[in-house]
Order: sequence, then C-alpha cells, then structure tokens
Amino acid sequence: MHIFTLFLHGNDVREGLGIEMEVTLQNLTKKFPGRDRKKQEDVIAVNDFTFQIPDGKLIGLLGPSGCGKSTTLNLISGLLKPTDGKIFFGKDDVTDLPPENRGIGLVFQNYALYPHLTVKQNILFPLENLKGKDKLSKEQMLEKAYEAARLVQIDELMDRKPGELSGGQQQRVAIARALVKRPKVLLLDEPLSNLDARLRLQTREEIRRIQRETKITTIFVTHDQEEAMSISDMIVVMKEGMVQQIDKPQKVYDDPENLFVAKFLGTPPVNVFTGQIKNHKLYIGNDCIMEAGEEADREVYVGIRPEGFFPKADGALCCRLCGVEVMGRDISVISSNPSSLNAVVRSIIGTENKADMEEILSMGEGNISTDAVVRFSLAPHKVFLFDKETEDRIYL
Ligand code: ATP
Repeated sequence: MHIFTLFLHGNDVREGLGIEMEVTLQNLTKKFPGRDRKKQEDVIAVNDFTFQIPDGKLIGLLGPSGCGKSTTLNLISGLLKPTDGKIFFGKDDVTDLPPENRGIGLVFQNYALYPHLTVKQNILFPLENLKGKDKLSKEQMLEKAYEAARLVQIDELMDRKPGELSGGQQQRVAIARALVKRPKVLLLDEPLSNLDARLRLQTREEIRRIQRETKITTIFVTHDQEEAMSISDMIVVMKEGMVQQIDKPQKVYDDPENLFVAKFLGTPPVNVFTGQIKNHKLYIGNDCIMEAGEEADREVYVGIRPEGFFPKADGALCCRLCGVEVMGRDISVISSNPSSLNAVVRSIIGTENKADMEEILSMGEGNISTDAVVRFSLAPHKVFLFDKETEDRIYL
C-alpha cells in the first residue's frame, strides 16, 4: 500500500493544539482530461504518490516544470480533488473537506495580498472570518497578528499598504498571514520566485528560521535544486507525476537512485559518459577507470560528480584539456572526452589539491594546444553507474 504521512505533534508554539496529528495521503493520483486536439489522453499530473514526512520537518518538492509539484500541493490543500486515493489528517478522512476546514496555511509565488488593505489588515483577515467557538475578540486577534508579524520581522510595517513594501517584505506578510491561524501544515508554492537573487537567499533563510521556530510541518515547492537542498530536511524529487527519490538533501546528492536524479541535482551538473563493464572492470572508452565487482558485461551510463576528478599524471581517465577557469576558492577544469554525453567535462579542483592545481594552472596558461591532455584519477564514491535501459542506479 502506498501511504504518504505527515506526523504533526502539538508540542511547540502551536500552543493550544496539544494534539498529535498525522496526515496521510494514500495512493494519491490526479488526472486532468486531455484537451489537445491531437492528444486526447488524460494528463496524469500526480501518479500514485507516496511518501512519509517526519514530524515538524520541512519537505522540498523538487522537479522540473510540469512534473506535478503544484498539483500535489493543491491536493494536500484541498484546492484540487484527487482522481484516486485519500487524504487523512489524523484519523479523519479529509479528502472531501474544503481547504478552509483543513487547517492549512498557503503561500503562493505572487503573494496574493489585498492591495487596498494595510499589512495589519491583511494579516488579520483570516482571523476575522473565524466563526462559532473559534471566534476571537479584537484584542486576541491583534495579539495573534502581531505575534505572526514579529515572527517574520515585519511588525514595524503594520500600517503600510502592500504597494509600499519590497517584494521580500510582501512575501513575509503573506507568510505571516498563512501562519496567523497556526496551521497544522504550511504549504509554500515557489514562494521565492519573484524575488531577486539576494532577497531570495535572505528570504529562504528566513523561511527556514520561521519553520524551525514554529516546527510546523512545511511543504515547499520549488524547481530550484539549490533552494531545495539548502532549505529542506527531506527532498522529494519528482518527474512526470512520479516520485523518483525521497531522502535527505545530501543523500539525494551523494546517492542518486537514477540518472534523472543524478542529473537534476548539482551545479555544475554531474558528468555523464557512456561506459562498458567488461570482465568485472568499468571502462570509459579504452580507459579502465575502476573495478566493477560481480556485474556482468554490459553497456552502462557513468555519472561522475565534478568534484570527483583529481588531475594526476597517471590518472585512469584521459581527457582533452579545453580550458581552466579560476573561480576564487576552486578552479574548474574543462575538458572533453569522446564518451561524454555532455558537450564538455567539467571538473572542480579544490584548493586543498594545491599541487594538482598548480600543474593544471600551468597547463591552462596561454593557448592550450589541441593535443593537450589531462588525466584524472577518480574518487570512487563520486562515480555512479546506471542501467542503460532503465537508467536506474547499479550499485557495485
Ligand atoms: P511548474 O513548476 O511549471 O509550476 P509543476 O511541477 O507545478 O510545474 P503542475 O502545475 O502540477 O506542475 O502540472 C503538472 C501537469 O499537469 C502538467 O503537465 C500540466 O500541464 C498539467 N495540468 C496542471 N493543471 C492542469 C489543468 N487544470 N488541466 C489540465 N492539465 C493540467
């Protein structure tokens, strides 16, 4: 059985909740009817979705455009109804509950603040709509609004209108508005996309801090692998509606389960070569680069992270040297190899390999002759093998 569970506990600033909450998505699938004249079949935006999130963590939903991230988020929020599968909050089946009854906080890319209301009125808005036993007095509402504003550090700006704020400040107001009702789950859909590079960095650190302080289980949608890596406790990598891997960020990077995941994470990207296993050894072209255990002879893809290359006169992998880029802390050696699927092979040489660096720098001075070669020895844990048909990882 496929189950997606969010565990929530009320042992944090969501005081008053005091309950242990578990949210479960079960065999979650969403199909949209095909509308293209040529292609009438359904679009399966989310396909039998499965994962488990530990209590109070921040989960990054990561994948390229159109892989189903927003659809997943909208299913969790209740903005969309699944075609198949169920959603439980605790023991309650909430599949048919409207978003406003799910106890969620939502933040979108475009802030969606009311322009004619002040910051304070925007944050108060969700509280003013509370009914029955949840209804609050004016003082209680103000107290909660200021508390949320302090958390995102905009309590000085409460009387301004959204038009008088920077993008980053507007996004913080949107987060305060999502937090003010103390949601059980906070859902963020590309919340940093409209910000410039510096603000993006600052706001993502802010989101991380707020999440750590509130311990609200948070799902963060992004197509930016660096953003997902830096902010998430766990990353869910998606492709065409299907989960590819769910792991801690470092694990996804160090131990990708398939070629798609290996290629999606990392800057510069992983270098991919065609290779062969022959007589229990792994070859790229004619270069035998490592032992291949008990694997049978076959063609494979070989992924090598840029930091896995070490220039050595007797290194196993021979490439043609194309250039050297000095990038402050590290240098990047650009080379080519007939078996490389990437146009160039990019390797990063850290300053700790000073001797290698000096040799390479001297090679890269002036015009590099067309027959200049560079040999690399490879760090075995930075080399990944993938099946050529399925593109799944082959573990040696
Ligand atoms: P992006 O990063 O570009 O926002 P995404 O990963 O969030 O993409 P979704 O918006 O979830 O992707 O879309 C997943 C797939 O479902 C896409 O192929 C998209 O075209 C399709 N889709 C989404 N909404 C609808 C809809 N209302 N009707 C038909 N197809 C839809």
